[in-house]
Amino acid sequence: MRDELVAEASDSALLEALTGNEIALVADKTNLKSHSAQVAFVTSAIVLARSGHRVTLLAPDLELRQSSSPLRLGTLVGALVELGTDLLPGVEFETGAPKSKVDLEIRFGDTPPAVAARSSFAVQADAWRARLASRADQWGASIDVPFGGMAAGGAAAAEAFKITMRRLRHFALNPATFDTFFAPAQTLNMAIAPPDVPLPRDLGEFELVSGGAIGHASLFAISRILNVSAHARVFDDDRYAISNLNRYMLTRLSDLGEWKVWHLSRQRLGRMRLEPVPERFQSETALSRGFDSRVLVGADDIPTRWEAQRRQPKWLGVGATTHWSAMASAHPHGGACAACLHPQDDPTVGPIPTVAFVSFWAGLMLATYFVRELVGVPASGQEQQTFLTPFRLERVWRSSVPHHRNCPLGPHVRRVA
Ligand SMILES: [Zn+2]
Repeated sequence: MRDELVAEASDSALLEALTGNEIALVADKTNLKSHSAQVAFVTSAIVLARSGHRVTLLAPDLELRQSSSPLRLGTLVGALVELGTDLLPGVEFETGAPKSKVDLEIRFGDTPPAVAARSSFAVQADAWRARLASRADQWGASIDVPFGGMAAGGAAAAEAFKITMRRLRHFALNPATFDTFFAPAQTLNMAIAPPDVPLPRDLGEFELVSGGAIGHASLFAISRILNVSAHARVFDDDRYAISNLNRYMLTRLSDLGEWKVWHLSRQRLGRMRLEPVPERFQSETALSRGFDSRVLVGADDIPTRWEAQRRQPKWLGVGATTHWSAMASAHPHGGACAACLHPQDDPTVGPIPTVAFVSFWAGLMLATYFVRELVGVPASGQEQQTFLTPFRLERVWRSSVPHHRNCPLGPHVRRVA
């Protein structure tokens, strides 16, 4: 937030803008039949609440098609309310009609408006496409693919965050660019993958490098695939701290202090089995244990990506964030590698600024590349990397990843093992 604001903006002004933002999620029974819509509702509720917004859930308490971590209960509203008691200090979900005008009403599908609101829009999704507009069609009752719904939830959360920023407009460093950047999206119609990409049921073996925010978002995303199974190994040598709660999709307040990998290994994520490796990723470790799988890297630290690439996996995907932007890339064996894409280290000193919806988008895109690789419909050579700013999803950059002449991993070698 401080990237955009003059130094006089106090911490308390920022906190007030975050926690004073009142959002109502409004959905009726017809529009909540599908797994897609339920996932969209849950995703937006969690991402909004993690930014400290005050979220009211106005929806029937339907049986969930799937209840996975961080949810513990089996019904939509009940599970979110329970999660809200253990999410962030001072943040809970409300369920009663708001007593005053809310800042934003988010309607799901063609659910009619239900509250007095300063602004209102509708979201809807297909398998791999998210839509946002002043009104939307009914949410298809049989959409089981959750990815479009998660994109809709992530897009809605970014729109809500813009309201927080607009409350701070009097502190804008550059009012003209501020107004353009934080203007509401009028409409959004965004595909994160082609419509016919099927879903895998068994993800096989994979390694996840880092149990951080992007790893959490990727696990959240792939675990929403109905009946999914996998055997994954998660590398991380750190414990949860309170500064993780604003963006770690699977972490609860009561998890603070726990080792990330042990916590992750205990989560209910479909039939995925997560094996904890409580250490920093080292390719020697992976090789000595005979791992031969695909690797997902959710670490902003560039040397960590090089290390993962060094062990020459079948496939490597990277999710990363910078400021308000999220990126992801896919590196099949033999193609341009993660070090070709980022040949120089870019060390960060001090605390890393992060926000819920940016980390979420990085993880969602990484999960999308991974799923496409598994089902044999990989992204084309022209779409090996994606860069987007969730505030301005009207424009998404997709491009190839060329081999870099001075790749720090040297001239590209054949697989060793
Ligand atoms: Zn390279």
